Amino acid sequence: MATVTLRKVGKVYQGEGGRTVRAVEAVDLAIAHGEFCVLVGPSGCGKSTTLRMIAGLEDLSEGTLEIGGKRVDDLPAKDRDIAFVFQNYALYPHLTVQENIAFGLETRRAHRSALVAMCTGASAERTAESTKINARVAEVSKTLALDALLERYPRELSGGQRQRVAVGRAIARDPKVFLFDEPLSNLDARLRIETRTELRTLHRRLQATIVYVTHDQEEAMTLADRLVVMHEGKIQQNATAQECYERPANRFVAGFIGTPPMNLVDGQMESGVFTANSVSMPIAAGPFRRDCTLGVRPDRLRIVSSEQPGALSATIATIERLGDRTDLALDTAWGRLTARVDAALAHHFREGTRVGVTVDAKDTHYFERGACGVRIDGS
Ligand code: ADP
Ligand code: MG
Repeated sequence: MATVTLRKVGKVYQGEGGRTVRAVEAVDLAIAHGEFCVLVGPSGCGKSTTLRMIAGLEDLSEGTLEIGGKRVDDLPAKDRDIAFVFQNYALYPHLTVQENIAFGLETRRAHRSALVAMCTGASAERTAESTKINARVAEVSKTLALDALLERYPRELSGGQRQRVAVGRAIARDPKVFLFDEPLSNLDARLRIETRTELRTLHRRLQATIVYVTHDQEEAMTLADRLVVMHEGKIQQNATAQECYERPANRFVAGFIGTPPMNLVDGQMESGVFTANSVSMPIAAGPFRRDCTLGVRPDRLRIVSSEQPGALSATIATIERLGDRTDLALDTAWGRLTARVDAALAHHFREGTRVGVTVDAKDTHYFERGACGVRIDGS
């Protein structure tokens, strides 16, 4: 197992007709030994490129990369002691589960035994190696609950089982670092949740260093020791899932992390009153006086009587019942807001009726204006 350190890493692709694409910019990232680090962000933000540079499948255009404290940016992929699991888990269709898992070990053995045979011609060596490989496959398949499936072929497995075999093949080699690129995105919703729980358990057991890429913020939140939120090739926040949720570093993270997304309203804060579209609400927060974006999580909007002084007037556009909770879409002078209320209270609400909305100062976030406007201190 090992640390992974990226310093000022950048990637520029040479596109067609001399056009260049900047995919990754100035990425600084130190992943600790045994850490489960998740790169998350929308499609095209540079997650896969970052992972492929760690794997050695892409060259770095800028910066340096270390694995286990050693510079590896010039080392070919096969010498980096890394296991890579892709979205399209490529199993060999003509090999059984047993053979697929053993595959990485077998190719290594082939190199080594060719050498041994050259020097000694010994076959006892090879038998000992075979026994070792079989033991390793047995151990790995037990870990992943694949032991009953070892004789099957990939076509005889479900999507989730195939994905487990792909993971099995990766862990059989006992590499320094595991890289996963959207490994669950081909699975149906239930299986995805099951498999991610398994991955988390597996990580705990293996104590492995994992770098995991997903565009799904919920998957990222449940898996990560550390969340690295990316947008347009740059790291927007690098923190625990809880910190990204509770104290998003900028407006992009605020809008990306959390379901439903945080309500974000452009306006002005002055003397504890927030005004947007000429409609004001007193929020005893922020001594600052400036243009800014107010952020409030849907479960933090308080629904009150439409008569309540100071409340923002709202019309309930739609009610979405989700079992244990209910989401209200509210039309207001500040635009469409989402409120999440306890399901027990949901029967109070009717579509098309008017309510009031208030916000507690402690539940507010403030950001500079703009897509990546930074968090304003003190909020
Ligand atoms: P993600 O995995 O976050 O969806 P990628 O790392 O795949 O994003 O891509 C980042 C950016 O780099 C995108 O704009 C993508 O179009 C571009 N890109 C990726 N691979 C190549 C390539 N081989 N040549 C040119 N541009 C590429
Ligand atoms: Mg990708």
